[in-house]
Amino acid sequence: MSGSLFIVSAPSGAGKTSLVHALLNINPQIDLSVSYTTRNPRPGEMDGEAYHFVDRDTFMSMAKRGEFLESAEVYGNLYGTSQTWISEQIAQGRDILLEIDWQGATQVRKLFPDCVSIFILPPSLEALEQRLKGRGKDNDEVIAKRLAAVREDVAHVAEFDYVIINDNLNEALRELNAVVLSARLRGTRQLARHQDLINQLQHPE
Ligand code: 5GP
Repeated sequence: MSGSLFIVSAPSGAGKTSLVHALLNINPQIDLSVSYTTRNPRPGEMDGEAYHFVDRDTFMSMAKRGEFLESAEVYGNLYGTSQTWISEQIAQGRDILLEIDWQGATQVRKLFPDCVSIFILPPSLEALEQRLKGRGKDNDEVIAKRLAAVREDVAHVAEFDYVIINDNLNEALRELNAVVLSARLRGTRQLARHQDLINQLQHPE
């Protein structure tokens, strides 16, 4: 595998989605995995873009057939990453980014110990609360559930390779991009990508 596998996790409201989309804009060679979920679409979310929205029965049958690389229950809904899609991307040597929770990250690390995991933190609890309320896409009950889960999410921060504080979007983007670039330049990745160059330099005749 010459591509890199990135995992980005964060407590809800840390600004992870905006940050990841900004990263994809400046890094078109990274493909974002579109997860399956039993959660209802939020206003403006299209099926197949933010998520593949499926009912619980469909999700459970997919899980039984082994179609998920990882799956987890988050805030009362099921989420899973497509095994088929990941295998196809890996075979093509593409960089892949998974936006998943810490439970999913634990499962993926076991399968791909070389993956690079990044945890995004909000600058403060107040900022997180404001972002959750400000986006106006979840009702009060859902927001309360998500706030209650922050402590649990953050308890797993030490399991991640990198931690980025998302206070200023541009600054956080610069940091996230630095992580991506350094992962790409790892010796093992570069050797796989530039085998011809290395051969030529070793055998100039
Ligand atoms: P949201 O409902 O706000 O889009 O996402 C809720 C949480 O589920 C976020 O922490 C998000 O990263 C996580 N999540 C989204 N897709 C997946 C997935 O495929 N697997 C796992 N384990 N978590 C996911």
